[in-house]
Amino acid sequence: MKREVNVQAAANKFLAQMSGNLGAYMEACVKCGLCATACHFYEVSQDPKHTPAYKLFPMARAYKRSKPPMSWFGGAPKITEADLRHWEELIFDSCTMCGRCTQVCPMGIDISSIVAASRQAFAAAGLGPEDLRMAAENVRDRGSPLGVTPSVLEDRIEWLEDEEEIEIPIDKASADVLLTVSSIELMKYPDSVVAMAKLLNHAGVNWTLSSKGYEATNFGFLSGKSDIAKLSIERVVAAAEAVQAKTVVIPECGHAFGVMRWAGANILGRPLPFEVVHITEFLAGLKREGRLKLKTLSKSVTYHDPCQISRRGGAADAARYLLEGFATDFREMYPTHNHNWCCGGGGGVQAMKRATNLRHQVFRIKMNQVEDTGAGSLISACANCRLTMDESKEHWKWDKGLDSLVELLAENLDDTTQH
Ligand code: SF4
Ligand code: SF4
Repeated sequence: MKREVNVQAAANKFLAQMSGNLGAYMEACVKCGLCATACHFYEVSQDPKHTPAYKLFPMARAYKRSKPPMSWFGGAPKITEADLRHWEELIFDSCTMCGRCTQVCPMGIDISSIVAASRQAFAAAGLGPEDLRMAAENVRDRGSPLGVTPSVLEDRIEWLEDEEEIEIPIDKASADVLLTVSSIELMKYPDSVVAMAKLLNHAGVNWTLSSKGYEATNFGFLSGKSDIAKLSIERVVAAAEAVQAKTVVIPECGHAFGVMRWAGANILGRPLPFEVVHITEFLAGLKREGRLKLKTLSKSVTYHDPCQISRRGGAADAARYLLEGFATDFREMYPTHNHNWCCGGGGGVQAMKRATNLRHQVFRIKMNQVEDTGAGSLISACANCRLTMDESKEHWKWDKGLDSLVELLAENLDDTTQH
């Protein structure tokens, strides 16, 4: 059934966000087209509609209509329902908000932030992929995009503790560190939760999970629902304040890290009462302090930089520091670090069923990168990238290994020197 579209609500939302950087970006594009070469969607499709600058259009039209000289003469043409329907796929399905285009843009235009703001306007109009909208509503109503309620969390943790004979503290009265988890890990990759627990216990960290605020991902942000984005952050803040944690650790999830670390305070409307660190940064800190004792890993591996951890997160070196001296046959892929290619599933694209084929096409870039290194296995520090790559691996019947970094580290802990 075709949904009703509230075009005026979209136009209002576009204009409401038009201050600071966003307004400047609307004026700055010189239409050079350089950004096309940086975008994985354009790279695989060669379709001009996948040029990043094209995604500016809906917001630029709303902007031009409101500014002189166009506003003196009744404004530029209005944004229409047909425009919104045409651009919906470009704003959601074919932008992972990876930020790669910004690196080549001579004007430094942050397309990713324009896409995030545009998604809010599309959501206000009642548009956006159904599955992404439902994931956000699940967050609001049940606590997580995959429906992991506090009681499901407690059951899962109890099961993992029994199964793995490991202590996973939840709802301690106080702790230095609040660990968050993503529901992808809880439901699809529970070994990753066990691995984080093993590593933190091994290093003697005073940490806990909390049933008040456990979900790291922020589907409110990804779907353009700013009220749900704020609610997600408030839950984690309440949980951290309840246990007086001064550090919140974000698990293997790129966008969870990016949203909380770089947008969290703005969304919340006040400074975050804790430091936000990605699990790779936290473990790198433990290694630096001599609290993480590891055996060595001899198989050949390469590392996929999750966009929101490396390029947009500023934490590309943490994973490499962890791999240093541990992975004895580590091979960098090219391009790497902040220039690495996206997996194709960031920005909520992984959750959009209708984008599946496009994602699989994008993954061919990653397959080529890995093949060129000759490594037998690909390491990821993001469960969302991992799920995207797992599904595409299966689609292409690609036989390379795919490992979680925390799981590899936990499997190779040297417990003879346990704290
Ligand atoms: S942010 Fe990434 S996915 Fe989006 S347009 Fe730019 S390069 Fe493409
Ligand atoms: S590279 Fe920058 S200035 Fe050039 S078309 Fe793309 S967004 Fe516009």
